[in-house]
Amino acid sequence: MQRFDFDLFVIGGGSGGVRAARMAAQAGARVALAEAAELGGTCVNVGCIPKKLYSYAAGYAEAFEEAEGYGWKLPEAPQFDWPHLKTQRAREISRLNGIYGSLLKNSDVTLVTGWAQLVDAHTVEIEGRRHTARHLLVATGGTPFVPDIPGREHIVTSDAMFDLDPFPKRLLVVGGGYIACEFASIFNGLGSKVTQLHRRAHLLTGFDDDVRQFLANEMGKAGVDVRLNCEASSIARGPDGFVVTLARGQQIEADTVLFATGRVPNTQGLGLDAAGVKLDANGAIAVDAHYRTSVPSIYAVGDVSTRVQLTPVALAEAMVVVDALFGKGKRGMDYEFIPTAVFTHPNIGTCGYSEIDARAKFGEVTVFSSEFKSLRHTLSGRSERTFMKLVVDKKSDRVVGLHMVGADAGEVVQGFAVAMRAGATKALFDGTIGIHPTAAEEFVTMREPMPG
Ligand code: NDP
Repeated sequence: MQRFDFDLFVIGGGSGGVRAARMAAQAGARVALAEAAELGGTCVNVGCIPKKLYSYAAGYAEAFEEAEGYGWKLPEAPQFDWPHLKTQRAREISRLNGIYGSLLKNSDVTLVTGWAQLVDAHTVEIEGRRHTARHLLVATGGTPFVPDIPGREHIVTSDAMFDLDPFPKRLLVVGGGYIACEFASIFNGLGSKVTQLHRRAHLLTGFDDDVRQFLANEMGKAGVDVRLNCEASSIARGPDGFVVTLARGQQIEADTVLFATGRVPNTQGLGLDAAGVKLDANGAIAVDAHYRTSVPSIYAVGDVSTRVQLTPVALAEAMVVVDALFGKGKRGMDYEFIPTAVFTHPNIGTCGYSEIDARAKFGEVTVFSSEFKSLRHTLSGRSERTFMKLVVDKKSDRVVGLHMVGADAGEVVQGFAVAMRAGATKALFDGTIGIHPTAAEEFVTMREPMPG
């Protein structure tokens, strides 16, 4: 039998790669992982974690504003110290990089620093040194996509947003997806004058239409200048910052222009061709239901194989691979009822189907929705409102869509996602006692369906 250096060689030290490496090693496999940059991947270094920290920072601006209504007198107007926030964030991210390193070390995973390239179905080369493994796992993630428009060299992507210098007084955001909406909200909260351009009539394609409209309205009320049906056609350096020309000719000046126009899989320079690994029509690594690529000994999980670009999905996919190779055995992964949050201000939390998608899949649905001013804002003086919606399959009474725009929506929806995966019906929601007074209780007290 052929002797390999390792049972599993993982390329990429992000969420999916590190999880797979650790769990395989803990199951007794001899594992190595190659990473060319800091451990933790997009999520830890330039994604979920620093974004959430900056979202908290933006939240204080709202809290200071609201405090007066609750009897707090601030001695003077609070000042925001951007360099301090950046330093604090960098320190926390370094700590997390270290933790990822320790997790691998403590699980006896061999960490190889450097750029890895596939040589064949069982061999990886890093800085001239070859390693063999019975199984290979590609978990190299994704990278921002920027359309080819004149002046492209003047823009930044989400990767650069955390360390901007100086703080942008005027920020122009192009895109209407997760990243565009989150950064528009966050920098608005931190004090930038934010304009957001999106090419469609509504933000957040794929989300429930009511959620999309409600969010745009709330972001507008909070101060973001959301311009829909709008496209940037060129960017040029002006006397004072950058000048972005829109397709209709109008011009907008900004200190920073962020393009958040989607992400593409990191497949370049990995030797995929040499090893015979095929890509799909979207340029992602093509995998079967068990994350096996066109080469039977090579697997791929996470953003490089682009099913759903979410950290917890990459973690779950990694576990499917580890179980199949070294553990409980072969199983598939269920992509239905994956909850997700968008950390805009206010947050979006959602699980299951939008109303349109539910009608297409289930036929007749009953819709319940509610919009209100939360108790917190009766005294805060803020006009922010909360929106909640349930979509129920008429035949089975199962709740198949649950949507919220409001404070801590991500926290609220996580628990409901468990009930929805368990097949909870509207009757079960109705029979559940609410926690009073919370916004979340509204999900178990909505009784009147929307007409139609
Ligand atoms: P998205 O796919 O969410 O959004 C991309 C946006 O860019 C869309 O609004 C799209 O418009 C627009 N767009 C695409 N191409 C162009 C173009 N050529 N010109 C103008 N606009 C364009 O991608 P993101 O980059 O925001 O995020 C990538 C993924 O990362 C997300 O889908 C999500 O899975 C994940 N993510 C998750 C987060 C979370 O869990 N909170 C946070 C951030 C990211 P259109 O709608 O017309 O296609």
